[in-house]
Amino acid sequence: MIVECVFVGTELLLGEILNTNAQYLSQRLAELGIDQYFQVTVGDNPDRLEATLRQALSRADVVITSGGLGPTPDDITREVAARVTGRPLRLDPGVLAEVEGWFRRTGRTMPENNRRQALVPEGATVLPNPVGTAPGLIVPAGDGSGKALILLPGPPHELQRMFTDHVVPYLTSRLGDRPLRLFSRILRFCGIGESALAELLGEDLLTRSDPTVALYAKVGEVHLRLATKAATPEEAEGRFAPVLAAIRERAGRYLYGTDATDLETAVGALLRERGETLALAESCTGGLVAQRITAVPGASAYFLAGYVTYSNEAKVEVLGVPREVLAAHGAVSEATVRAMATGARERSGATWAVSISGIAGPTGGTPEKPVGTVWIGLAGPGVVEARRYQFRGSRQEIRQWAAQTALALLWSHLREGRPQG
Ligand code: ATP
Repeated sequence: MIVECVFVGTELLLGEILNTNAQYLSQRLAELGIDQYFQVTVGDNPDRLEATLRQALSRADVVITSGGLGPTPDDITREVAARVTGRPLRLDPGVLAEVEGWFRRTGRTMPENNRRQALVPEGATVLPNPVGTAPGLIVPAGDGSGKALILLPGPPHELQRMFTDHVVPYLTSRLGDRPLRLFSRILRFCGIGESALAELLGEDLLTRSDPTVALYAKVGEVHLRLATKAATPEEAEGRFAPVLAAIRERAGRYLYGTDATDLETAVGALLRERGETLALAESCTGGLVAQRITAVPGASAYFLAGYVTYSNEAKVEVLGVPREVLAAHGAVSEATVRAMATGARERSGATWAVSISGIAGPTGGTPEKPVGTVWIGLAGPGVVEARRYQFRGSRQEIRQWAAQTALALLWSHLREGRPQG
């Protein structure tokens, strides 16, 4: 079965809103194992929408639209869909009662305009909207081809609810007895770049076809996606298992988690497992690492303190960094991050402390320490070390790279008792 999505709205074409419905629908359709060859975004123009829907119906079995179901004259999807399928619009008393009921429940009087939302193309199925006024519609094509248009409202929470409750069952029933779904597994690596990981894994693994293997470079980590179409999770698992084993054998030392496990969760799990604690001393990241560590439920079991020591004075007063070190080497230096990590570890009593000091820009760089220079320090049982990094990008990107790299460094130590890479 082929599905095509059509996104209706001039504000999408003008870039006023981001088309998050495209991402949502694409992900859900992929999970269902349904192919999508085209997606179209079109403005609130009846002629262009009509041409778009006709073309989509000519090359897909089911066309899903998003948006343009509202009560105002520029909401045209319903009318155009009726024209394209040759199905006249009729006022549906049941839908009208629903829309009126929505206004009553929310304590408002229904504007006359909203009666348009009760217009239903003859022979269409109405999809109730428990979280908004515009009902969705499944409109069978008028030519007996068995194809259909599915009209969904634009607001993401309305579209998502309706998709889950009504469109998934509809699509699944069309898929037949043993529908194939797309199963995927994300493996997350840190402490290694995309091309080094590709080399480690080898071409035979990266070019295989079932499951397919794809690498994606992210901020300070690399994701590997395994994907296969299967009827059951067990069937997919069976296909993943030998490939997973090969990946673990070749690059397991950089693999920190799978699927939704992010680096802060992996670090937290290791700290918990080892019964150890953590403190942070952050300068240019301003608490980004602490924010991520504390975003994990249960972080209080291992996170003791995060010091945001932005000024030199705070580095001296709060962490005990010697004034001479700052004077001789500057705030962004090996000696300073070593002293920050040692100070944070001593003052908090934590097993591990990680420190970050860098130049996030856009100003403040020098030839010796250009924008993006970041020193990361780590102090732990029997170890104090520091590494220099050179990140690129905007201020925000540099800060994110620094935070991610600090977590990756800590993870490597926790995992093996020594850093990697
Ligand atoms: P309503 O009944 O609220 O008018 P509608 O079906 O007419 O819904 P639109 O008027 O096209 O939908 O869009 C309403 C709002 O929904 C937009 O202003 C926007 O905030 C959001 N929206 C619409 N389309 C998308 C999209 N593709 N991705 C993300 N948000 C969207």
